[in-house]
Amino acid sequence: MLPAFSYVRPTTLGEAIRLAGRKGAHIHAGGTDLLGCLRDQVLGAETLVSITGLSELRGIAPARDGGLRLGALTTIAEVAADPTIRGRYAGLAEAASQVASPQLRNQGTLGGNLCQKPRCWYYRGDFHCLRKGGEMCFAAEGESQGHAIFGGDRCFAVHPSDTAPVLAALGATVRIAGAAGTRTIPVEQLLVPAGTNPQRETVLEPGEILTEVVLPPPAAGLRSSYRKVRARAVWDFALVGVALALRLEGGVARQVRVFLSGVAAVPWRHPGIEAALTGKPLDASIIAAASVAAAKGAEPLGKNAYKVELLRGLMTEELERLARG
Ligand SMILES: Cc1cc2nc3c(=O)[nH]c(=O)nc-3n(C[C@H](O)[C@H](O)[C@H](O)COP(=O)(O)OP(=O)(O)OC[C@H]3O[C@@H](n4cnc5c(N)ncnc54)[C@H](O)[C@@H]3O)c2cc1C
Repeated sequence: MLPAFSYVRPTTLGEAIRLAGRKGAHIHAGGTDLLGCLRDQVLGAETLVSITGLSELRGIAPARDGGLRLGALTTIAEVAADPTIRGRYAGLAEAASQVASPQLRNQGTLGGNLCQKPRCWYYRGDFHCLRKGGEMCFAAEGESQGHAIFGGDRCFAVHPSDTAPVLAALGATVRIAGAAGTRTIPVEQLLVPAGTNPQRETVLEPGEILTEVVLPPPAAGLRSSYRKVRARAVWDFALVGVALALRLEGGVARQVRVFLSGVAAVPWRHPGIEAALTGKPLDASIIAAASVAAAKGAEPLGKNAYKVELLRGLMTEELERLARG
């Protein structure tokens, strides 16, 4: 059952920041994650501050430098369907189209997708786990099928967003507005690794609002992709996902960025795969070397070693797809 809370819908950013900074306040965008968290008593709330009245947070527009600006309230469906994104940042459109279900893509926003809470079944269930302020992560010795194989440190929940890894691979930044002003940070710095603070998903301070995502202009020859493997064909989170962005120059891979989903508390950058590919042609032997490199550094728990093999296979298939163009 949902707890009792008050609901406010400010129409200026300044007012939204002020209200969201109050104790017990939560920012409400599409509500597809937040309301589930409240219903499942993952968190409590005194006030929901809807940001849907802030028209400046909507829409997709060209940036002055040739990149693209996406308002935080842009829906996932809008991201998936946008012709500029499909043409120039294909990986992002692919990621958005694999989020949840059509209904959730119509309601859920890009800002909310980046800031959503993990889907760990202990965290979402009746367990007072480390992420909820308890003493331990129950997945460490328990049902770890859906949990981290990289960077697990006390908490093994994985970051659930499909758009975050590909935005990180594309070098996107987020603009954040708060009482102290605005700041811009890379998407990969928005999210907090489990080892840094297992009770925090983002670096946002109370009252801070993510206002937009900014994509840099695509470099010549940029190719990007995202694919996840899930237990069901739709309406499911990544068991393992691979986001790739690279430039092909005369068939040789340059500026390779690889971020994985479903395997760590944050989109997991994998420098070993990047090194195996950079400056090399995307041929069968290099793809095989990248697949071997993918397993390096993985530390599976008792029940999720399958994710290592899944990652290797997915990496091979995605690189073959990218090489075909
Ligand atoms: C059944 C189900 C399946 C799903 N499957 C997937 C999936 O496969 N892949 C995937 O990526 N996601 C999935 N999701 C998650 C869903 O897509 C995201 O929850 C959605 O994009 C969140 O957007 P929202 O606007 O509804 O966020 P809300 O629920 O409104 O907010 C989510 C969180 O972000 C915060 N927040 C929202 N907007 C801002 C902002 N602008 N600034 C600061 N904080 C903000 C809120 O306070 C809250 O903590 C699924 C959700 C459900 C319920």
